[in-house]
Amino acid sequence: MSKRDYYDVLGVGKSASAEEIKKAYRKMALKYHPDKNPDDNKAEEMFKEAAEAYEVLSNQDKRSRYDQFGHAGMRNGGMGGSHMSMDDIFSHFGDIFGGAFGGGFRGGQSSRRRVNRGSNLRVKVKLSLEEVAHGVEKKIKLNKYKECESCHGSGAEKGSSPSTCPTCHGQGQVTRITNTFLGQMQTASTCPQCGGSGEMITNKCNECYGNGIVKGEEVVSINIPAGVAEGMQLSISGKGNAGARGGVPGDLIVLVEEKEHPDLIRDGNNLLYDLYINFADAALGSTSEIPTIDGKARIKVAPGTQGGKVLRLKGKGIPDVNGYGRGDLLVNINIWTPRDLSKEEHEMMEKLRISENFKPNPTSKDKSYFDRMREFFS
Ligand SMILES: [Zn+2]
Ligand SMILES: [Zn+2]
Repeated sequence: MSKRDYYDVLGVGKSASAEEIKKAYRKMALKYHPDKNPDDNKAEEMFKEAAEAYEVLSNQDKRSRYDQFGHAGMRNGGMGGSHMSMDDIFSHFGDIFGGAFGGGFRGGQSSRRRVNRGSNLRVKVKLSLEEVAHGVEKKIKLNKYKECESCHGSGAEKGSSPSTCPTCHGQGQVTRITNTFLGQMQTASTCPQCGGSGEMITNKCNECYGNGIVKGEEVVSINIPAGVAEGMQLSISGKGNAGARGGVPGDLIVLVEEKEHPDLIRDGNNLLYDLYINFADAALGSTSEIPTIDGKARIKVAPGTQGGKVLRLKGKGIPDVNGYGRGDLLVNINIWTPRDLSKEEHEMMEKLRISENFKPNPTSKDKSYFDRMREFFS
């Protein structure tokens, strides 16, 4: 059988550019694609012929050899044209079809065994504010699936080993060919007999009944970084339930909860504390002891301090969980107004009430409560 001219096969001229050749081949390949022409030998021949022509003309070396010597120059030309199988064509030129045939048609069919993955385990840890501020190592006892020690997770009785699944021949998948309007389509699904593992256990382990995993206890220590917050989840890879029959373990998901602190309120990375001082301390100035996350501290209150003033203790808050510095401790000063007064106190207060210095006289330095709120929450 004499061969047709490669340029004729693709329907392009001798001076066609690489792009034109590619375009022409794509058109031919789609037209004669076996998906569109099932059981059509003529179409298959045309499909192969186009692939052969493209194989030569898309390669600079082969093309110039072909231009000089014709088909005679192709005898040692690597793929040798007619020896190309359908699989060769798909693996070499598969990308040219783009997504036209749903991607995986024939080429690159992967037969993968399924690996059993253990389920994730979820636990809650309740942390004090001190633990949040400093980070903490928590030991947690887990009730979980562990690898069966008797069979080392294989699920097979001692002395026996799993055999290859007869249904999928160890592939873990079975392929099914269906006829669609585009032609034959190949679909792969998990092997129903072995569940995708590719193996069958004939003599099951007595301890785990062939599962390779058993219920047990394990103490896991978890390093909780400083700065975590209520509702955050830490994922610890591989500390969840063991996977059946030698599979991979799931993850341990740790949900963070915060205990309330008796004095300090958390606001993001800042801490808030309400300090109450009496009227005399505010007027005369004083020193007060306040709680911080690192123990007690003393702060000075200047004479003439107004109620509602906020003192900021830089860096005395919670460290940022991502390492971006540390929050502050904000001390909100409240002036305590006495509820019960003795007769003497009452008389003293009456005198003070009419004193000129006791008239409220706020200046621009005494910012309003609303101004301060705007500052702190902006
Ligand atoms: Zn076992
Ligand atoms: Zn199978």
